[in-house]
Amino acid sequence: MELTKEAIQEVGEMKRKHYAMVINGERVESASGDTLETFDPAKGETIATVAKANEEDTEKAVQAARQAFDHGKWRKYPVGKRARVMNQIASIMRSRFKELVEMEVLNSGKSVGAATVQINQAIEDFEFYAGAIVGHRGVVNNMPYGFFNYTHKEPVGVCAQIIPWNYPMMMAAWKIAPAIAAGCSVVIKPASLTPITAILINEICHEAGVPEGVVNTVPGSGAVVGDYLVQHEDINKVAFTGSTPTGKDIMEKASQTLKRITLELGGKSPNIVFEDADMEAAVPGSLFGIFFNTGQSCEARSRMFVHESIYDEFMEQFVEKTKQLKSGDPFDKGTHLGSIISQEQLNVIDSYVQSAIADGATVLTGGKQMYPEGFENGYWYEPTVITDVTPDMKAVREEIFGPVVVVEKFSDEKDVIKRANDTKYGLGSSIWTTNQGRATRVAHQIQAGIVMVNSPFSAFPGTPFGGYKESGFGRELSVETLDLYMEDKSVLSYYGPKPLNPFGV
Ligand code: NAP
Ligand code: MG
Repeated sequence: MELTKEAIQEVGEMKRKHYAMVINGERVESASGDTLETFDPAKGETIATVAKANEEDTEKAVQAARQAFDHGKWRKYPVGKRARVMNQIASIMRSRFKELVEMEVLNSGKSVGAATVQINQAIEDFEFYAGAIVGHRGVVNNMPYGFFNYTHKEPVGVCAQIIPWNYPMMMAAWKIAPAIAAGCSVVIKPASLTPITAILINEICHEAGVPEGVVNTVPGSGAVVGDYLVQHEDINKVAFTGSTPTGKDIMEKASQTLKRITLELGGKSPNIVFEDADMEAAVPGSLFGIFFNTGQSCEARSRMFVHESIYDEFMEQFVEKTKQLKSGDPFDKGTHLGSIISQEQLNVIDSYVQSAIADGATVLTGGKQMYPEGFENGYWYEPTVITDVTPDMKAVREEIFGPVVVVEKFSDEKDVIKRANDTKYGLGSSIWTTNQGRATRVAHQIQAGIVMVNSPFSAFPGTPFGGYKESGFGRELSVETLDLYMEDKSVLSYYGPKPLNPFGV
C-alpha cells in the first residue's frame, strides 16, 4: 500500500495488530512472509506482529534509498524546503503525541514519564536539525592571488542506521533527523525487540512530505539485516548505537568498503560526589543518573564514588530514596521505574549482581527480580545498590545495563579522577561539587565525551553526545553531527589574467 496522506489517515490509529516494513514510501510485507513478535515486557504479552526483513527485503530498501539519493529530489531541495518538511514531521508527531507515547510504553515497558520526555525530545530533534541545516554551510579559504577556494557541503549518500531497544523512538530520531537534514537517504534497522515506533516515524516522514525511498525501515535480525547493510557496497555510511562488541564487529566489516562510521557504544560512567556537594542536589541527581530508564541507558552513572567524609550521610539518604522508588504499572504517572526489556536482559542483570555477591560485595538494597501486582509475568528488577566492591570485580568493570549501581569511597581529588578513568569506556560522567574551580579541573581530566556538573541530564538537542575510548566515536544530537552525514568538497579555481602553464611547455 502506498503511504499517501489519505492512506495513513484511513488506517488512523497507530496501535495495530500488525506492522509492515516501510520501503520506497510503501507499506511492504516481507518476501518470506516471516514476522517478528513484539512484546510488552511489562506484562510479558505479545502486542503485535511486525514484518521481518531478510536479505532480499533489505536489498530492496537499499536500492530504494540509492535510487532516491542518486536520482531523487530530496537532496536537491533548497534547505529551507527540507527544513519545512522536517518541521512538518515534528508537528504531526506532536499531534499524535499521546499515541506515540502509548506505543513506546507498550513496546518497551518504560514508564510513561520517561517515554513522554523521550518522545518530546525526538520531536525537538527534527525541529533542531530543521533549524541547524539552514545555517550549515561551507567556507571560503584564503588562497594565493589568482586562486579561489570554497568548500561545498554535500550529503554523504545512503546511510544504514542500526539502533537499540533502550530508546526506540528517540534513537530513531537521533539518527534520521540529521541524516535527512543533510540530504542523505536512510535505511534504518530498529532493534528486533522494539521495531514499532521507528516504523511509525517513517510513516510520518512520508505523510509530512519526505519523498519515497529517502527513509526506509527494515525490522529484522542484526545478524541478517544489520550485517547485510554493513557489508553492502551501496551504503556509504553506518551509524550505530548499541553494544561495544557489536560496534567492533561493525567497524571491522565496514572497513572492507571504507564506509564512514559513527559508533555510540556502551558505558560504565562515573558519578563523583565531593565532600562539598550540595546534598539536596547530589542525592536525587545521583539517583536519577543511575535509575532513569530503569538503568538501561548507555550513559547511566553506574559507578558511584562518594567522598569518605560524607559517605555515611550520603549513603543513608541515597538508599532511603532508592527504597522509595516505585516500580509497576508503566502507565501510572507515579511510576519511576518501568520493566526490564526482556527475560534475557533480566538474567544478565541478575548474574552481575550474583557475581558481585560471590566476589564479596554487599547489597544494601534490591538485588532480586520483582513481581509488581498485575505485572507478575513481566520482567522486573529491584533498584539495586552495591557496596564493598573492588575495582577488579566484574560488576564494577562491565556494563550491566540495568538498575544496579556500585559504590566506592574516595579520599582525594587526584585519586578519584584516576579511579573514574580506570575503565575501557568513556561516555558520560557526573560531578557533584559547589567548588567551581574543582568542577572545571575535574571536568577537563575525566576521559569521557560528556561531563555533567551538578546535573544528571546528558542530552539536549544541540549538545554533542558521544564517547571516548571504547564508548565509540562521533557525536550525535548537535550541529557537529551534520558534518558526519556530509562530505566537505573543496572547489579550487583560478581567476588570474594569464593562462596557467605549470610545465612551461
Ligand atoms: P546489540 O547487539 O549491540 O544490538 C544493537 C543493535 O544492533 C540491534 O538493532 C541489533 O539487532 C543490531 N545488531 C546485533 N548484531 C549485529 C551485527 N552483527 N551486525 C549489525 N547489527 C547488529 O545490543 P543488544 O544485544 O541489544 O544488547 C546487549 C548489550 O548491549 C546490553 O546488555 C547493553 O550492555 C548494551 N547496549 C548498549 C546500548 C547503548 O545505547 N549503548 C543499547 C543497547 C544495548 P537485534 O535487535 O536484531 O539484535
Ligand atoms: Mg546483541
